Amino acid sequence: MIRPVPHVAEMAPYALADLGGDLVSMAQNESAFPPSPRALAAARDEMAQAPLYPDPDWSELRQAIAERHMLDPNMILCGAGSMELIGCLIRAYAGPGRAVLGSAYSYAFAATASLQAQAHYRQVPEPDLAVSVDAALDNVTPDLAVVFLCNPGNPTGTMVSNADILRLRADLPGDVLLVVDQAYGEFCDAAQDPSEIFALALRGDTVVLRTFSKAYALAGARVGWGCFPPAIAGELRKLLNPNNIASASQRMAAAAMRDQVHMRAVVARTGSIREAFSERCRAMGIDVLPSHTNFVLLRFDSADRAARVDQALRRSGLLMRGMAGYGLPNCLRATICDAPVMERAATVLKEALT
Ligand SMILES: *Cc1c(COP(=O)(O)O)cnc(C)c1O
Repeated sequence: MIRPVPHVAEMAPYALADLGGDLVSMAQNESAFPPSPRALAAARDEMAQAPLYPDPDWSELRQAIAERHMLDPNMILCGAGSMELIGCLIRAYAGPGRAVLGSAYSYAFAATASLQAQAHYRQVPEPDLAVSVDAALDNVTPDLAVVFLCNPGNPTGTMVSNADILRLRADLPGDVLLVVDQAYGEFCDAAQDPSEIFALALRGDTVVLRTFSKAYALAGARVGWGCFPPAIAGELRKLLNPNNIASASQRMAAAAMRDQVHMRAVVARTGSIREAFSERCRAMGIDVLPSHTNFVLLRFDSADRAARVDQALRRSGLLMRGMAGYGLPNCLRATICDAPVMERAATVLKEALT
């Protein structure tokens, strides 16, 4: 018999959203709107290069990111989705005998990556369904190696202030790596200056991650990036797969980064649909957390009601994401789709609740 190593044998497969066949997916926080037309044109142009390996240094893409965010290109690394960067960070800095701290409802992949690395994964409570810096600081232990924090949070959609993140960093021990995952950062850049958070990388102990999967509408291209202290970037490169991002994906992402007008329009349209949908849901008595992302978390008065609403949505061809796996069985997470889909969802919710 061929046996895997024990820690792999014991792992459950990663629980991606149920794809639900013909249902309209409101389950994976993909963009409701297409990417920049310039990104699509760049991918078509790049197809002729398919016989060649891609640029292992992501030079054009890093340049586009550095110009937009006024960062040093040498501090930027790109991954096959930010998931690849998260996995490599945890493998490089956590491992047997070392712990990773996440927050109660934070992104499930950090827990999976910790299991893969045989690190302990611990969660701090999120009393108000928002990250609590005090709770994180109360859970610092001698074995703590990495604090992984999503801001805005997924699946909560809530945001903590830059001041709170800066306070967390200042009060964490200097040998604990802080990873700030800003997968939804573009949805709140107008409200909070992102440069204050990127600047934390200059301290040498903090990494800030972003992705092209959400606001840039390129989830299928698999491109994530981050701002890394140079020493950490050097270690991470040892673990990233060489040639990790397909040429067409690199070109698409660079073109999308250079089309900020398009991205901001996607963010603005998504935000206005989100606010209108949230208001309608609140009028039906559903508790909707304030969201700074492209999704909303709908809280019902019981797990049973959430399950019945989920069934009614599925019968009408719509698939939201059940949150039992996150310990929130009375919640459904709804990706903001285009206005007609949200209209259908609101109609089904209304019927299911009356
Ligand atoms: C969507 C998401 C990611 C991005 O994953 P990619 O691998 O870049 O597609 C990372 N973190 C959070 C919290 C997310 O919701």
